[in-house]
Amino acid sequence: MTDPIDIVIVGGGTAGWMTAAALAATVGKDYRVRLVESDQIGTVGVGEATLPQMKDFNDHIGILEAEMMARTQATFKLGIEFRDWGYPGSSYIHPFGEFGRPRGGVDFLQHWVRARQAGEAEPIEAYSYAVQACRHGRFDFPVEDKSEINSTYAYAYHLDAGLYAAYLREFAQARGVERTEGRIVGVDRHAESGLVEAVQLESGEKVSGDWFIDCSGFRSLLLGETLEVPFEDWSEWLPCDRAVAVPSERDDRPAPFTRSTALEAGWQWRIPLQHRTGNGHVFCSRYISDDEATARLLENLDSAALADPRVLRFQAGRRSRSWEGNCIAVGLSSGFLEPLESTSIYLVQVAIMALTRLFPRRRPEPALINEFNRLVDYEYDRVRDFLILHYHLNQRDDGELWRHCREMSVPDSLAEKMELFRRRGFIDRYRFGLFAPPSWISVFLGQGLSPAGHEPLADNTPLEDAIGRMRELQASIDSRVQVMPAHGEFVADYCPATKAALS
Ligand SMILES: Cc1cc2nc3c(=O)[nH]c(=O)nc-3n(C[C@H](O)[C@H](O)[C@H](O)COP(=O)(O)OP(=O)(O)OC[C@H]3O[C@@H](n4cnc5c(N)ncnc54)[C@H](O)[C@@H]3O)c2cc1C
Repeated sequence: MTDPIDIVIVGGGTAGWMTAAALAATVGKDYRVRLVESDQIGTVGVGEATLPQMKDFNDHIGILEAEMMARTQATFKLGIEFRDWGYPGSSYIHPFGEFGRPRGGVDFLQHWVRARQAGEAEPIEAYSYAVQACRHGRFDFPVEDKSEINSTYAYAYHLDAGLYAAYLREFAQARGVERTEGRIVGVDRHAESGLVEAVQLESGEKVSGDWFIDCSGFRSLLLGETLEVPFEDWSEWLPCDRAVAVPSERDDRPAPFTRSTALEAGWQWRIPLQHRTGNGHVFCSRYISDDEATARLLENLDSAALADPRVLRFQAGRRSRSWEGNCIAVGLSSGFLEPLESTSIYLVQVAIMALTRLFPRRRPEPALINEFNRLVDYEYDRVRDFLILHYHLNQRDDGELWRHCREMSVPDSLAEKMELFRRRGFIDRYRFGLFAPPSWISVFLGQGLSPAGHEPLADNTPLEDAIGRMRELQASIDSRVQVMPAHGEFVADYCPATKAALS
């Protein structure tokens, strides 16, 4: 019998325990997984809003949804409301679902643009089932029959990040992951190959391995500090570099969406959980001090604060490679993009899924490493462009941040996307990864960019037919949303443990 392949995970935040849980559930007995974390150092402790792909991750590794939701005080999420982003007083929702349905082989957007230009269409959100459910504070699971309008959406979760990591820890340890408590004070590397051989703990113990997964957070202990893989700084496009976070009392009628409200020098998040509400103010330290940003957050809370506000510092960007030699960075150690579209945990998931498919045996294999880095970079770059779009397309005149973002030049990849949408309402449909056309549509239109024209194919459908069909669609959405359960009641019924604890 050969020795098992040793995988050492450095760090026990959301990234570390998601990696440990996924490896424990998917790799075979040939691998032995050990996680090192330090309670002294702690975790970043935020990260409460997710994307629908998290359900795929949980399903894939065998997590039961209702149990996970009860244990993490989770609620459902159908999208994100952007308040005051286009201009003060505006509001739009980026839904996890479609706008309308295609007709005659042509996307709904094309019919809508034509009807809107003829003065015969409502704002696009009237044709989204998920947006209407959000606007009415309702939730239900999507149905499987694809011909039904209430099959046209997906959902994600709001959850307590600390509880989620603790839940995954239990899950992973029950499946054989060994946990070591201790602060890493040194790293041993092979003299010739430069591969990481072991991490040294403060206690003197050495933890050696064949593979090291760096989940050490912003510090990037292995990939950044030890292997010196450069960090690509994207703050010229995403200048916000701090956040102040504070929990507040729970909302009796939790919204099934995250709220993001633009402020003078950044924006504020509001995330309703079962037991409390998560709040934070992401801001640019060039334009507002920590104290002013904290005061602004506190004066905007809907309910009483439950703890002292905590300031976090960050920089937008990513490492130029996430996998180097025998070290793979997952989570904040590989990069960070502000939580405007709840993408960080998704990026953790992308790295884990790519890793479980590409994991070599004992030796690094360049083809597999290159493919992993390509997949991860793709996703980071696309998320970056999508976030920049929110800032760049703004009509706010209440702060230097907004003026700067409106006037800055954007990456070519984004400039091309904007131009295609402006001319034809055209959006590239990716084969995999973020973001799908409805996401781009909601932000383009929500931030005030409308297509000047439509695809010629849309003209094959008589305008009156297209308008009639849109009216039917809207009526069907309205009537079905009215009978959906209220979101808070749905959650309480679905998570009996929580219901019992709250009563
Ligand atoms: C303000 C803010 C808001 C966010 N909101 C969201 C959101 O809504 N949605 C979302 O998806 N993501 C969000 N994120 C990102 C999310 O929090 C992270 O992606 C996620 O928590 C993963 O973090 P991590 O595990 O990589 O790092 P961390 O949580 O920082 O964990 C690092 C781990 O490494 C260990 N460690 C570090 N150094 C050592 C050492 N020397 N020895 C031993 N152990 C060590 C620590 O003890 C810890 O266990 C947000 C981030 C910020 C900053």
